[in-house]
Order: sequence, then C-alpha cells, then structure tokens
Amino acid sequence: VLVSQGGFKVKKSDTKNPSRIAGNSAISRRTFTRGLLAAGLTAAIKPLVPAAMANSAKTEFDYIVVGAGAGGGPVAARLANAGYTVALLEAGVDPLVDQTTGLIYQTPSFAGVAAEFPNLSWDFYVQHYSDPAQQIRDTKYVPNKGILYPRGSTIGGSTAHDAMVFAYPHDQDWDDIADETGDNSWSARRMRKIFERLEKCEYCQPNAPGHGFDGYIPASRFDPQIFSLYPDLQNLAYAGLRPNQIPPGDINDPSVARGGTGAFVTPMHVATKVRISMREHLMATQMAHPDKLTIYTGALATKVLTRHRRAIGVEYMEGSSLYQADKLYDASATAATKRLFAKREVILSAGVFNTPQLLKLSGIGPAAELRHWGIPVVSDLPGVGRNLQDRVEITVNTSLNKGIELYTRCNPTDLQNDPCLFAWATGQWQGATPPFFGPYANNALYTSRVVRSRQADALPDLFIAGQATAFHGFFPGFSQMTLGQTWTWLILKVHTRNTGGTVTLHSKNPREMPDINFHYFDEGTDKRGEDLEATVEAIKIARGYNSKVSGAIKEELFPGADKNTDAELRQWIKDESWGHHAACTAKIGGRHDPLAVLDSRFRVRGVDNLRVVDACALPRIPGFFPVASIMMLGEKAGDTIVEDAEDDDHGHHHGHDHDAG
Ligand SMILES: Cc1cc2nc3c(=O)[nH]c(=O)nc-3n(C[C@H](O)[C@H](O)[C@H](O)COP(=O)(O)OP(=O)(O)OC[C@H]3O[C@@H](n4cnc5c(N)ncnc54)[C@H](O)[C@@H]3O)c2cc1C
Repeated sequence: VLVSQGGFKVKKSDTKNPSRIAGNSAISRRTFTRGLLAAGLTAAIKPLVPAAMANSAKTEFDYIVVGAGAGGGPVAARLANAGYTVALLEAGVDPLVDQTTGLIYQTPSFAGVAAEFPNLSWDFYVQHYSDPAQQIRDTKYVPNKGILYPRGSTIGGSTAHDAMVFAYPHDQDWDDIADETGDNSWSARRMRKIFERLEKCEYCQPNAPGHGFDGYIPASRFDPQIFSLYPDLQNLAYAGLRPNQIPPGDINDPSVARGGTGAFVTPMHVATKVRISMREHLMATQMAHPDKLTIYTGALATKVLTRHRRAIGVEYMEGSSLYQADKLYDASATAATKRLFAKREVILSAGVFNTPQLLKLSGIGPAAELRHWGIPVVSDLPGVGRNLQDRVEITVNTSLNKGIELYTRCNPTDLQNDPCLFAWATGQWQGATPPFFGPYANNALYTSRVVRSRQADALPDLFIAGQATAFHGFFPGFSQMTLGQTWTWLILKVHTRNTGGTVTLHSKNPREMPDINFHYFDEGTDKRGEDLEATVEAIKIARGYNSKVSGAIKEELFPGADKNTDAELRQWIKDESWGHHAACTAKIGGRHDPLAVLDSRFRVRGVDNLRVVDACALPRIPGFFPVASIMMLGEKAGDTIVEDAEDDDHGHHHGHDHDAG
C-alpha cells in the first residue's frame, strides 16, 4: 500500500549531491524550513543520536550484520543487548539526515513520497515476464528498464518507507515451517509470543489476547474521530458491510490468524502520529550500549569473506549512493574498499534482492551460474535466488463526485499554509476535539476485508483494503498524487501459488543490480491459474462494494468500465498487476529439500558462521502483509543466535551439520 501527497518533487538533475536534496525539492529549502519552524516541528524531527554512526576504527566484532531493515534490525539490536559487539553495515543514510528527509520519514501520510525519496529508497527495476510482447503491455513499463520496484535503503530499511501496515500472518504460515523442518520453535504458538514481545499495542483493551504492550513496535489505528467528522469517508469505508460487521474488528486478533474472514481495521507501526521503524529500536539500543552496537552508514557490502567454508568477515565499499538502484548513483564514482572481521558470525539481512546477490558474489549459490561469472564456488546451493514470490496486487480506482473534506483542506505544496501539516504538528483541527492530528497522521487505509475466493484452500486468500488514495502501482512519479479525490480498493491475492521468480547476477560488479524476473502467471508455477482467477473474483467483489455507494462515485478509472468480461479482466490483470512483498529467495527448508538454502536456525548450508535473516529466509510469503512477520523472524533469529553462542561457549552444539533440517 502506498500513500502520498504531491509536493516533495525531487528533480532528477538536482539529485547529484545528497546533502542538497532538500534545497532542490519543488519546495525550496527556505520555504520548507520556515514552514517547519512555523509549525514547531524541528524538535519533533531532531535526530536521536546525531554522531554515533561515525565509522569506528575497530575492525573486529563478534558479529557483523549486513542491512538495517525489518530482519537485520532486530538481530543486531538483540545481539548488542546480549552483550556482544556488533557491526551493522547499512548502505543508506539515517532517515533523519536532514529536516526534509526526516519529515517525509516521520509523517505517515508521506509514505509514498518516502518510497520515491532519494535518501530513503532504492529503485529496482524488475521484469514480470520474459516474453517481451507481454511485458511491454504494462503501462508502467519503463523502456529498457522494466517495472519500478522500490526498496528502502536507510537505517530501518523498507520499514522506513513502507505503508506501515502491521498485520500478524496466519498461524498456518508458522506451523508449516515447523512441520517442514521438524523444528517446533517455529510453531504458531511460540511465534505468537514473539509477536507479543515485539508489539506495543496502543489501541487494544488491556489484556487483549495475543497482543503485546511493552514491545518496541507501536501499533496504532487511525483516529476514530475521522469517521464522525467525515461521514462521507465512513460510508465509502463501510460499503457492503452487514450491520453486525460494524464496527469492524481487529485484524491482529488471534481468530484472524486462525483463518477468520470479515471486515477489519488494520493497525500501523506508528506511535500516535509518527512513523516508528526499525530505526528507533536500533537507536535506542545504541544509546543503551554505545560500546556494543556500531552502525556503519554508507557501507555497501560487496562480499562475504570466507576461509575453508567458514565466514570470517565482510568486504564493503564506503561512500554514499554506490549502488545502481540509488537515484543518485554515479557509475564513475570511486570508493574505498574496506574489510571488517567477525569473531563469531556474519548475518546477511540485505533483503530479497541483495542477499542472494551477495551470497552469489561470495561463491554461495548455483554452481553453474557462479562458474559462468568465474566466481569460485564455496557452497553449491541451487536455491539461492530461486523461489522468488510476490503477491498479485491490483486496484479498483474510482473518482468521487465530491472530494473527501478531510483531505481537500490540505495544501502540501505550501507547507507554511498547510492546515493538514499544522494539525499533524499541533493536534489542532477546526471542528475536532484536540488533539486531532488530521489526515497526515495515518496511511489513508480505512478498511480491510479478508475474503475467501472460490480458489482458496483452507485459508482466506484475498485482502481488499479501502484507501483514500489514487494508488495504482509503481512507476516513476507514482507518489505525486492527490489524496481524497479518489477511492481505491487495493486488492492483494495472498498465499499466491507462483514460486517461479528468480534473482540472477547481471554481472560480477557488486554495485550493479541483479536481474529480477517474477515470471508471472503462465510463465510461473501456478499452472491452474488460481491466482489469476482469484484476482478476477476480487475485482468483482470490489466493484460490488462500490455499487453500494454508487451515489458517491463518479466513474471507475481502473480497470475502467470497458473491462467487464472475465477474459478482459484476466488480460488486464496480466498486463497491469504488480507486487511489493517480494520474498523467499534463500529459503529455510527441510533436510531433503534441494532448494533449501538455510536450516531452521537460519544457517547457510555448507558454510559455517553464516546466516540469513530477512525476507529471503521465508519459504512462502506469510499472511497478508510481510513486515510484522519479518520483524518476528528477526527477533526469533536473535534468540537462536544468542542460544547457539551460549551453547558454543559451554561446549554444546545445536546439531550443526551442513545438511541439517
Ligand atoms: C513501498 C513499500 C511499501 C510497503 N508497505 C508495507 C506495509 O505497509 N506493510 C508490510 O507489512 N510490508 C510493506 N512493505 C514490505 C516490507 O517493507 C518489506 O517486505 C520488508 O521491510 C523487508 O524486510 P527485509 O529485512 O527483508 O529488507 P529491508 O527492510 O528492505 O532491509 C534491507 C536493508 O539492507 C540494506 N542493504 C541492501 N544491500 C546492502 C548491501 N550490499 N550492503 C549494505 N546494506 C545493504 C538496504 O539498504 C536496506 O536498508 C512495503 C515495501 C515497500 C517497498
């Protein structure tokens, strides 16, 4: 899900020097800063720890973690909290590097802008098909590149620019891993405890089952005053609900994890009005243990150093915008190569595309591909870069006869005079009981429906969310949209059946992006076409909701009134669908699974002292939205690694054989 407002335009020609980004945005730096000062925001966005990220002179640590996102953040923090020295290498900068970046990072409704903002995001370009005739039918296709696929690159990783949807997965997702690996620590019962440890529920009743109250990830909901103040918005959000479904339930209730369907409110990882990502947990940990956690920003890991099939350290390049996916990338820029050494282990958490790339560059992957590039094989693992999967995502967008007044007051191109930013900063809003932080305090997602399509097995397989946005996929400039003039049903086909995507090396150059191809639909593994049929059904369901509020709706913009028959809808979905939950490219699996890269303790097969802890490790994408699951996985990995370290120190072993399941 994406959310945005127009206004923070960064012109390509202006993006050479990161420190100048703020000054070159559509709003001048002076105007912007004055706007912020007027709103009294500077205190709110002051960096917590301004200088502690200086690159230290130390070169040896107990652990080295690569990537400060949803998976790497919890592990690095946990190991430092347990008393180990940790170097955390992050290619990006701190999201609070300057005021503009900080404001975009912290303001929930600017999430879409954040996903396009140079200091916070990388632009991958992916293929959906290898058939070029089908590929170019997508109106989002950028010639010679592909389809834009944003990823976070900053402290916090993609949690620093995601849409903050914080949803527990299905219990079955965890129980399947336990069954496949025979490792019962993955059981849903045990994993729920980890969720409870992570969460700080701001909206729950005290003692709500399955929730946590003291964790470091706040879970909050949009202000319920919004619906009483703006009943037109409530009408859209409640379209098609039966009276007994009002008010909608909590998507993180344990009954939903067991397979419940219906209408829900989905919380965000937001503290009242401010985005909280993995960054804040890392900063708090660093403040508590400055001698344990060292965060290297602008550190692009290029290789895992191994000796005798044992990871001993990491090679990295020092500098900003060194990776091709960075909007400020300059291929001719040079940078120093450095090395850090790990006394205990190296942990890769660089995300779904970069972790397999790093493994391969380090000689860990399919032997034939490595030999093709002249990379010496350390461990022949055919599963590295395979099993890439995503959700099928599409929207039904409609224009409205009358804009939603919650948003039409906003004036994001003149922040000094923007009542919405003023409300966000001060809690004051004409007509509301203070504090009311206005529309910028949430992700514009006002209802979530969990539905079983006719294709579903035991679990529901559709998530259909109502948003006050115009979002309809990723393309350069997608975030420059006005909120509140359109109503969008965002459709996610969950528990998808296509596992046929691949991440392969494009070159040996660690600064270049790998080739990413999802092999959608006919090209993939879902031979019966169930993902496609379920998505067709979802479009009809969303149109059914709209038919209940037809008085409010002017016209359908996507797919549009001319797409009606099943055949037309199928082709539309093949042409225009996208995803942003990619995962599973270095999966955990059982002893006899030839594509398993990791055992159930996150250990890379065939290489000692090396683990992978991020979206790659999942064998299948869990639940409706991945980030809560990946954070849980990071927490779990922290437990596992500390346990193994303590056992090693006491001479015990956790059955570390390279083929362990
Ligand atoms: C626009 C957008 C919106 C989203 N919205 C939601 C949502 O609302 N809810 C939800 O559940 N999920 C959402 N997601 C998905 C979710 O954010 C990701 O699935 C999740 O963050 C992935 O976690 P990760 O740990 O695998 O990687 P990331 O969180 O992406 O972290 C990887 C980190 O590694 C760093 N890195 C990569 N390569 C290197 C290298 N070689 N050296 C050093 N550092 C490196 C990157 O800079 C990055 O910081 C969204 C994703 C996007 C892109």
